[in-house]
Formats: sequence, C-alpha cells, structure tokens
Amino acid sequence: MNKLLIATNNKGKVKELQELLENENIELITPAQINLTLDVLENGSTYAENAAKKALAFAQASGLISIADDSGLEVDALDGAPGLYSARYSSKPNATDADRRSFLLENLRDKPQPWTARFRATIAIATPSGSIQYTEGICEGLIISEERGTGGFGYDPIFLFPEFGMTMAELDSNEKNRLSHRGQAVLKAKSILLTDLTQN
Ligand code: IMP
Repeated sequence: MNKLLIATNNKGKVKELQELLENENIELITPAQINLTLDVLENGSTYAENAAKKALAFAQASGLISIADDSGLEVDALDGAPGLYSARYSSKPNATDADRRSFLLENLRDKPQPWTARFRATIAIATPSGSIQYTEGICEGLIISEERGTGGFGYDPIFLFPEFGMTMAELDSNEKNRLSHRGQAVLKAKSILLTDLTQN
C-alpha cells in the first residue's frame, strides 16, 4: 500500500485526516510512528505558504509524500482575526484551546452580533523531490458566546452552523468531516493523492 505521511503534530488534525483518508488504499503514517519530530516555523503570509512549508519539511525529512493542512478561523467583526494566528491566539504563554476560545470571546464582547465567521483550510501535498500541490476548503458559520458540545478541537464549541442549529463540537465526527473546511479540502486532494502516490 502507498505510504502518506501526515505532516502535523496537532492531535485533532491527525485524527480528522486519518478519518478523512481511511479506505483510500493509502497507508497513513504519523510523525510519531517514524520518530520524526519537526517543529516547522509557520511564518508564511498565507495558509498556502505555511501548508507548503510543513508538507515539504516533512517530505524531505522522511522521504515520504506528505500532506499538511494550514487552517484558521476568520471572524468578520475582528477584521479576519485570528486567521493565520488561530493556533497562537492568546494573551497567555502555553495557552490551551479553551484559553484561545475565551480570548476570542473577550475580544468580541463589545462587538455587535451576529458574529459571522469562517474556517479556512489549505492542504499542501509535497513530494520529497519538492513538487507541491494545493487544495482549499471554506466553511461559513457564526461564533456564539456559550460553548456547546464536546467533539472536535480548537474553536469547534463556539462555531455554530446556523442551518443545523449545532456547533461543530456537537456534530458527530462523520458530519463534521462532511461539512468542514478540512473535509472539503481533503475531498479535493484525493485525486491528487491517487496520482502522486501511484507515480512515486
Ligand atoms: P495551524 O494550521 O497549525 O496554524 O492551526 C490552525 C488552528 O486553527 C488550530 O490550532 C485551531 O485553533 C484552529 N482550527 C483549524 N481547524 C479547526 C477546526 O476544524 N476546528 C476548530 N479549530 C480549528
């Protein structure tokens, strides 16, 4: 079976990418399985640049085709913040996902509702020889001031799908994967993967 390295240390993303790519005749490898520890500096000015940096660094270090996701939450009332900085959005050092959610809600407190927002994900697939391909997914919703649900990760408990009346953390993982930014980007990436993995 063709091997594909998941180029991330984020456990929430690893789980979702594993679910999204199962049954595709691909052997998914995590960095932990091959004892690969890489901390890639995410200093690009776009999701695509950061995704490419991660995918390429992991592909070159492992010799395996690698898939990376760079994603973020964009809140209109905050002019698109936290955006590229979603993973680091907090006033505290060593902040948790819960700290980042509280910080976001603090910054939104005085802004008029509804707090429209979207998750955006760019997937980069890199080969060890340096070729990179990209796909994107976007998911629109609203930020709510009370956390709801225990699924998912990150900002999921405060991201509402108005059409379902549920937050991302209240959806079961199959539903989240069908609707999410990452789910859509991975769906588009599948044909690229099948070509890349069978040619290499
Ligand atoms: P990065 O792609 O490693 O820069 O991290 C993106 C950050 O955006 C994550 O650490 C989360 O805070 C947030 N994020 C991305 N995707 C999701 C999601 O599906 N649910 C909740 N938060 C997300």
